[in-house]
Amino acid sequence: MDNNKRYVYADNAATTKTDPEVFEAMVPWLTEAYGNPSSQHTIGREAAAAVADARERIAGILGCKPREIYFTASGSESDNWAIKGAAHANVKKGKHIISTEFEHHAVLHALESLEREGFEVTYLSPDRDGQISPADLEAAIREDTILVAIMFANNEIGSVLPVKELAEVAHARKITFFTDAVQAVGNIPVNVAELGVDMLAFSGHKIHAPKGIGVLYCKTATRCFNLIDGGGQENGRRGGTENVPYIVGLARALELAVERLSDSAAIAAKRDRLAAGISKIPYTFINGGMEHRLPGNLNMGFEFIEGESLLLWLDMYGIAASTGSACSSASLEPSHVLLSIGVPAEKAHGSLRLTISHDTTDEDIDYILEVIPVVVEKLRAMSPLYKG
Ligand SMILES: *Cc1c(COP(=O)(O)O)cnc(C)c1O
Repeated sequence: MDNNKRYVYADNAATTKTDPEVFEAMVPWLTEAYGNPSSQHTIGREAAAAVADARERIAGILGCKPREIYFTASGSESDNWAIKGAAHANVKKGKHIISTEFEHHAVLHALESLEREGFEVTYLSPDRDGQISPADLEAAIREDTILVAIMFANNEIGSVLPVKELAEVAHARKITFFTDAVQAVGNIPVNVAELGVDMLAFSGHKIHAPKGIGVLYCKTATRCFNLIDGGGQENGRRGGTENVPYIVGLARALELAVERLSDSAAIAAKRDRLAAGISKIPYTFINGGMEHRLPGNLNMGFEFIEGESLLLWLDMYGIAASTGSACSSASLEPSHVLLSIGVPAEKAHGSLRLTISHDTTDEDIDYILEVIPVVVEKLRAMSPLYKG
C-alpha cells in the first residue's frame, strides 16, 4: 500500500468542499456586480435583487416567509443570536432554559454565558442512541421556562432527534423552541412549517457553500432581540452590508443539497458498508444508534487505541477523518457527546468519526476499508494494554 496513493475526504461534518456550481453562481457578485444592496443606482439595485431572490428561494425550500430568513456570518452566530436574543427578550417571563448535554459548543457556550448572567439551564441527557425523549423535556419544564434549545442532528454521532414532537411539547406550554439544524439542513428534509419550530439555524460550509455564511430562521412574532444595530439590513435586526456573493452561493448550495436528497439511500448504503467492514476488526463498536441517523455519519470506537494516533496515521495514508468535533479536537478531553450517551471515558478516547458526502465514491470506501485494519493493527501492536 503506497502512502498517499489516494486522497479521501471523510470529514464532511467539519466542513465540505465548495461545489463548483456554487462557486460559479458566486463569481459575478465577487467581480463586476459589486454593488451595495442599499444603493439606489443600477448595480446596487441588482445586488439587492440578488439578495431578495436568494432569500425567497431559501424560504421556499424551508417552508417559511422570506422575511423570516436572516443572513448571518456562521452557524455559531445564528446559534448565539437565537439563544441570547430569545433569552433576553423573554427575561420578564422567567430565566429558565432547557437544552441538552450534547449540543455543539456554539450552543453550550452561549448557554454558559447566560448562566453567568443569572439564567438557569437544565441540560437533558440523551440516551445511548443519542435521542432526547419528549417525556424528559415535558418533565423538565417549569413555570419560569422561557426557551428550549435542542439540536436537530448531532454533529458527532449523527443522531436525528424528534424535533417536531419536542417542539410540540414546548408549544403546549407556550415556550419558544429553537433548533440548531446545522447538521440536518441539506442532509435530511427540513421544513420549518411542518416541524413547527420558532427558530432554526444552519450554516453554508456544511452544505457545500463557502465558510462564513449562515442563516437564522426566526418566525414572525417570535420574541428575540436584534443582533447588530446598523444600517437597517436584515429587517433592521442585523446591521452590516450584506455578503452578496455568499448569500447567492448559499441559495444555490441549498437547492443542490435538496436535489441530492435522493442520494441519501446510496450515501447511507456506503456508510453501512464502512460500518460493516470496520466492525469485522475485533474490539470495535459503533457510537450512537443506527436507526435515526444522518445518512453520511459513522462514529466508531476502537479499544486499546487513541483516536488522535489513529487520525494521524489515517492522514498519512491520505484519509481525512475526525475524532469527533473539530472544535474540541485541540483538547485531549474525551468528547462531551460520547460521554453524554454513556460511553466510558477510556472508550471515548478511541473514537473515529467518518462523515461522507454525495461525492464519496465506492473506491473511497474500499480504500478506507483497506487502510483502517492495517493502521489499527499497527497501533494495537504498540499498545501495552492489548494482548492480541
Ligand atoms: C458546524 C456546526 C456549528 C457551527 O457552524 P459554523 O458555521 O462553523 O459556525 C454549529 N452547530 C453544529 C451542529 C455544527 O455542526
